[in-house]
Parts: sequence; structure tokens; C-alpha cells
Amino acid sequence: MTTRILVAELKQETATFNPALTYYSDFRIYRDADLIAAYQGTKTELAGAFDVFAAAGDIEVVPTIAADAVSGGPIATADHDRLLSEIEAAAKDCLPVDAAYLCLHGAMAGEAEGDTEGRLLTNIREILGDIPIVASLDLHCILTERMINAADILVPYHTYPHTDHYETGQRAARNLLRLLDGTAKPTVARVELPMLVRGDELLTATGRFGEAIRMCQAVEASETGLAAGVIIGNAFTDVPALQSNVLITTNDDPDSAQREAERIARFMWHNRERFQAQLTPLDAAIQQASETDGLVVFSDAADATASGAAGDSNAILKGLLDAGFAKQTLIPIVDAPVVAAAFDAGVSAEITVPLGGTRDFTRFEPVTVTVRVRSLHDGQFIYENGTTGNGGRTAVITTGSISLLVTERPVYVVGRRVFQAFGLEPQDFDLVVVKSPNGFRTWYESIASLIVPVDVPGSTSANLKSLPFKNCVRPIFPLDENVPSPF
Ligand SMILES: [Zn+2]
Repeated sequence: MTTRILVAELKQETATFNPALTYYSDFRIYRDADLIAAYQGTKTELAGAFDVFAAAGDIEVVPTIAADAVSGGPIATADHDRLLSEIEAAAKDCLPVDAAYLCLHGAMAGEAEGDTEGRLLTNIREILGDIPIVASLDLHCILTERMINAADILVPYHTYPHTDHYETGQRAARNLLRLLDGTAKPTVARVELPMLVRGDELLTATGRFGEAIRMCQAVEASETGLAAGVIIGNAFTDVPALQSNVLITTNDDPDSAQREAERIARFMWHNRERFQAQLTPLDAAIQQASETDGLVVFSDAADATASGAAGDSNAILKGLLDAGFAKQTLIPIVDAPVVAAAFDAGVSAEITVPLGGTRDFTRFEPVTVTVRVRSLHDGQFIYENGTTGNGGRTAVITTGSISLLVTERPVYVVGRRVFQAFGLEPQDFDLVVVKSPNGFRTWYESIASLIVPVDVPGSTSANLKSLPFKNCVRPIFPLDENVPSPF
């Protein structure tokens, strides 16, 4: 008999320090057959799972809803609840099913819900009953007891920057198949770590975090390994469960799950001082950019739309204008009123506008600039992973040697396509600002002479002590002194 596997996706990484709420209309939503068509052949978790299911034979993928939004502020309550209830209703509509794969981020939060994925998984478990349920997660997930209890197996990413979306979907799907054929009996161990981590040592290819991940991969590859990961939380999702965790799932082997989880957790805790960001003050960064030949990339992690910030920071722009920086520079910014003014004025027109601070207005004050409108666009493009991006109406404007990509809505400014789609080739510039703490390295390391993580204000600053934490686990490293060892 054909095995029916329900598939759903819900993803948004919430930065609770970003005051600009996220709405239902910000989500890219695919339903039913469109869901499969949209993801098949992409480099996503869903595509990885589809391919494993197809290879296994006699499996019917039962699509429900895939909804994801660019990282951002908390989801407005009514919109948040509508998303969950639509997915739950779609799940009810396709009963009976034999198993379910949920593709989640894990660090989503509503205005009034700090554990979106825990709630969704619990409700889905209630609807589907006692059948195998596996979820894949970003390693920046906020891991909660509800999530662990509701799912049979949780499968987190193993790379940062994240390049294993597809493989994570495959790992999740293979676990689901083992639950279906009865060869997997999950035994789970979790070790909680009161620490928040940032910085270069998190890069899994080169940093200490990579060593911890390789320990997890060895556990997965071992005889009783099913899934293993270090889930470090998203430091900007200030909810009660925010901290780091090691999560190990073995096959009917609780002792090794516990032993390995503790071993990897001790490694993370022992190295905690290393997991801090080294940031360069803006004036020093500008000086370095002036003196460097070839492409310089400024990482504006503090206003990283990839981390959930508003994307409307003009801090680096102001610094460059004040310094009289004359090299060719490319800066992205979210500013709907400036886009509207550019569309009103038309291509080639010169306009004087207040720029920046339209969304995170408590942190950024508009700066008045006179700009020339270079080109106007509908804002649709394709990211490197094959999925669609939508910046809303989009304008390219210039002031002096500075070109600005101005979008109505936040987009990921991690790769190069977001610029190339609008006629801007990063390699043509001396300085490019990206809104990403580390993910951009995948696309820029090979073309950059110098990468500078700049210390500027923002709701996703790697300078964690600059942020107004109120809800996360306390005491926690590095916010508090002398945090007791969890061992
Ligand atoms: Zn992530």
C-alpha cells in the first residue's frame, strides 16, 4: 500500500529586538501541488526530503502548506495564529496519513507566543495521533521541551553558514523512513547550556563549533546514531527558552545519547570565551577600506535582515558620508518612502530625501541625501538556492560614489544575486555592505580582498551586551558574570 507522508513548512527567524512586526502578507505561501512544484529541484530541505521519498518508492507526498518569511520582527498575533491554524486545518483535511515531515526554522515567535514551533508540533501531534513525525530545524532554533515531546526526531542543520539545507531534508526523510519501517526507536538526550554564542569560531568549516558538529556527525554515523546537533539558539529571539543545547537522538540507546550529549556540551562550554564576535569600530573599518585594494566587504550584522533586523540602518552610510569616502560603494537599505519618491520622480531624476530609520526608528534617524534615480524594478528575483525573493518595488539610486539598492520590504542580502538582479555587480565596487553576520562568506570570500565585521548599532548586533534582553535563560554567558557551570 502507498505510504502517505504529510509535508508542511513554517519558517521565519524572529528578532524580538526589531520593533517592525511581521505580518501574514510577508509570508511566501505555497499550497498543495504548488508546494511541490515550487521546491522540487531546489537546494532546500523540502527538495532533499522529496528526493529521498522518491527513491524509496511507493510513497505519496501529501503537501499542505509551506509558509516562510524573511527573518524579521515578531509575527503580529492574529497573523501568527492564522498561519498555525491554516497549517493545522490543512493537516486535518488530508487525513489519514502515515507519517509527517515538518520543515521548521525553530526560532519563530509571535507577539504573544515565544514557542511557535512547540505549539505547532504539539497541535499537529494531536491532529495526526501516534504516527511518525520528524522535523528539521535551523541550528539557530530555540529548542523547547514541547518540541522534543511532540516530535519523534528533530534534525538540525550541521553547517554555518548554512549550506546543508538539502542534506538536512535528506537526513530528516531517512529518519522518517526508519520510523515507518520500524527500525528506529528514538532515545533522546538533551543538555542545556546557558550560553549565547557569536563570532568567527562558529564557522563550521574553520571554527571550534565545526569540531563540535563533527562530533555530532560521528554520532549520527555510529551504529545507533539517528540525529545529533548543537542547537545554539538565535541570540536575537529573546524568549524564555533562549540558550544553547546539545540534542542527540539514538536508536534505543539512551546511555550513548546521554554520554555523547554531555561530551559535546562540555566541549562547547569549555570553549565559550572563544564564541564571541570581534567587531571593528566604524571609523577604523572605513580607514581599512580606504587603504585596501580590491573589494572590501562590510558585514552589518547589527542590521542583518538575515538575522531578523529591520534592514533600514543608515549607520554605515552616515559614517561614509561623514568621512568623505570616495570609493565606489554599494549599500542595501529598506526604505519604502524613498522607493515611492523614486518611482514618482522617475529614472534619471534627482531627488532629496530622508533615508533610513523608517522601521527601526528608535535606533536610526533619517539622513537627508540628494540622490539620482538610476533604475526602477518590481523587486522580484531568484536567490542562489533557487527560491524567489521579493523586495517589493525596488529602486537603485546613487549619491556621489555610493550606490544604494532600496527595497520596500526586507530581503536577504547574503548572496550576490540580490544585487545582480538589479544590475549591480558586487565585483564592480570597492566596498559592498551586506546585511548578514556570516552567511555572506559563502558568496564573498572568493572575491573579497578584505572582510570587516563592523560594530554599529542594530537590533541584531553581535555585541550582545548592547541589546535589552528581558526573557532569556539567566544567568547566561556572556550577559552575566560567573555563570555557574551546567556540569
Ligand atoms: Zn540559522
